[in-house]
Parts: sequence; C-alpha cells; structure tokens
Amino acid sequence: MKRILFIEDEQHLSRFVEMELRREGNEVVLAYDGLTGLHLALGEEWDFILLDLMLPKLDGLEICRKIRALKKTPVIMLTARDSITDRVAGLDCGADDYMPKPFAIEELKARMRVISRRQEDNLESSSQALLTFRDLSVNVDLRVAKRGEVEIGLTKREFDLLVALMENANRAMSREALLNKVWGFEAVVDTNVVDVYIRYLRNKINDPEQPSYIQTLRGIGYAMKP
Ligand code: CA
Repeated sequence: MKRILFIEDEQHLSRFVEMELRREGNEVVLAYDGLTGLHLALGEEWDFILLDLMLPKLDGLEICRKIRALKKTPVIMLTARDSITDRVAGLDCGADDYMPKPFAIEELKARMRVISRRQEDNLESSSQALLTFRDLSVNVDLRVAKRGEVEIGLTKREFDLLVALMENANRAMSREALLNKVWGFEAVVDTNVVDVYIRYLRNKINDPEQPSYIQTLRGIGYAMKP
C-alpha cells in the first residue's frame, strides 16, 4: 500500500485516478489547488506526489521546487502541455518523471512502479549514508558526526546544517539556500540565524591545528572546500 497525494484541479480526472489507485489498495488524498497541495506535500509523509502543472493559487513547477528543497518524495508531473520546454522545466525543478495528459492509467501505474523499484535500489545502496570531508565524517542515518574517530555532539540544527554543507561540498551555499534546507521554506527567521549557527558549528567541529572546515565567502555565503 502506498500513500499518494494527487494535486490536480480537474476533479473528474482526480476522482478517476483516485478510484483506480484505491482499487489496488493505495491511500489517495486529493488537493484541488496549489497551496493546499503544497501544504499537504510538506506536512505529511507520502510515497508519491502526482502533480498537475497548471493549478490555481500556485503552479506545479513552483510546488515541485519547494518540495525538492526539503524532501525526496517522488514527484510525477502531469500536464496538458507536451512541449519539450515544459518537460525540461518539469525535470529541472526536480520531478522524477513527467506524463503528458491525457494519459492511460496503466501507464501512470507502470511509471510509479519503475520509480518505486529505483527507490528501493537506492535505499539498499545508500543505507547508512556516510558523508566525508577531510577528516570529518557524518553518518546521516545514525545522526553521528565525527572528526577522525572522535564523536562530536551537535544539536539537531547544527547537525542538519553540517549535512547541508557536506552534501554540497565544494559548492558555494548562500545563506538563503542553507536557511531553506535547514529551517524550511516557511521559516520566519532572518538569514542572520545562519551566521549564528555557522559560528556554533565551527566552535564544535574545528580543530585548532587545522584550517577551518567551513569557509566564509564574502557577500555569498559559505562553502566546505579544501
Ligand atoms: Ca490543471
């Protein structure tokens, strides 16, 4: 059984897809506009999000981008427009697949199966995901950070911030990007909070014998680079 969120304003289509997916024992929740859809997408755990491109209140590309900034939930974009640019835009914003409307329900199901299989394979190979940078290592699943063999005690925010930086090692990260990843897009906090937490994090992870792991890029943000 899968939990599926379907964000689509055409109610007869939603209901038909809902009925078909329920018949196979899935749980399906429908959202008829972009804002409700985004709220549900981020607020609950889903196995799949089916996302229409043209939606009232907030369009599918924007929703997809916001989901991707925070979650890895598989997203299939559905759209009436089948142009190359739309397809590229959909995949660029992080959708896992793209289906032009009208589509056959069997094809949608088949694509969902492909994504599920791919995900299971990834899960097997990435279980106990380990990130490393110089002598720092982070086990994302166990939420353990170490310098060499010594464990470093970090708060949840500090840990999430370190993961965001290590996942993007050798790339400049703006304060806004870090704020999005660590505090979430609805965060009401100021980007200054990022500077404060970078300071906390440096105090905990830095080794006085070595240059700082996290570099400040003036006017841009931060980066972990050799
Ligand atoms: Ca629509």
